[in-house]
Amino acid sequence: MTRKIPYAKPSITELEIRYVTDAITNGWGEHCYDYIYKFQDAFKEYLPVKHALATASCTGALHMVFATLGLRPGDEVIVPDITWSASVVPMTYLGAKPIFVDVCRNSWCIDPSKIEAAITPNTKAILAVHLYGNLAELDQIAAIAKKHNLFLIEDAAEALGSEYKGKKAGAMGDFGVFSFHGTKTVTTGEGGMIVTNRDDLFDRLQILADHGRNPKRKKMFWVEQIGYKYKMSNLQAALGCAQMLRIEELVNKKREIFGWYKSALGKIESLSLNPEPDYTKNSYWMPTVIFDENLRLDREALTAYLAEKGISTRPFFYPNSMFPMYEKAPNPVSYAIYDKGINLPSYVDMTKPDADYVSESLITCLRQMR
Ligand SMILES: *Cc1c(COP(=O)(O)O)cnc(C)c1O
Repeated sequence: MTRKIPYAKPSITELEIRYVTDAITNGWGEHCYDYIYKFQDAFKEYLPVKHALATASCTGALHMVFATLGLRPGDEVIVPDITWSASVVPMTYLGAKPIFVDVCRNSWCIDPSKIEAAITPNTKAILAVHLYGNLAELDQIAAIAKKHNLFLIEDAAEALGSEYKGKKAGAMGDFGVFSFHGTKTVTTGEGGMIVTNRDDLFDRLQILADHGRNPKRKKMFWVEQIGYKYKMSNLQAALGCAQMLRIEELVNKKREIFGWYKSALGKIESLSLNPEPDYTKNSYWMPTVIFDENLRLDREALTAYLAEKGISTRPFFYPNSMFPMYEKAPNPVSYAIYDKGINLPSYVDMTKPDADYVSESLITCLRQMR
């Protein structure tokens, strides 16, 4: 019997089932927001951060963040070329234009040394993405944002639990956003969160997030501007509350799984794994392998071989500037690494024999390809 090893799958225990059962049984009427408030509070305490707003998705969260910053047609936002498309697309709903900057060879996150050359009079913000749990170089990026009077947004969808110099990913920018899609470390099925320490931005966000109604006005159904509705349901939030009670366990397990891969694959010279510089803690959302360019790897043959062994992997993200909607931006590092990488399975309930089986299969396949 071949094993089946999915690349991601949520960890659902009795706790999650109990919370969701309570929400569906009792979470109506005057209790219809209880779990949403609880989930937001759990998040504020964990990061820690002053304000948190739960949303239907991280994509919707980013749309509202960019709207709150007042992005308009002609505005530009600096983004890493390599990230999931959802980091970039929402700004275009407002007519703003992504400016794709290359990533670092080690962290696969935006290269701070290439940001300033991309700044123009139209630049409004820098979006830093913490890819696969790896940390973007926030000190350098924040210094550039400050110098040029730009907003800094952290897309921490893949980095819940990661830390940069003792501070949690998502808590350091003007805004941070998270995703609770079913593949993410904490899930609500679908869902997202916006966090900020800035009262002024949060006030503006709250109006936009509630159909344009101002929570400070008591007049029911009075709408004072065009708003959005990207709310999370109480049912989803109940699942999120249970998951947040297990956050340390979930992150520790991700780190343990990465450790298994690292001990099996870390000494192979022709590949590199997610880095963890000593001033960071990586929550390893996706253990990722990048193969050396001189290996001349046939990635499709490799993933097909692994699939035959019951191991599901994912290809590394494309540079967004390759997509037909955008201007070409042939960023050398992004274009050199994107087709050399795969994500390895890391669902929370996987075991060390599972991870060893993945590593051994990968090593066997590499040998055969030589
Ligand atoms: C998952 C993800 C998103 C989008 O999250 P959704 O909740 O699916 O909308 C955005 N950015 C990054 C980096 C992601 O990995």
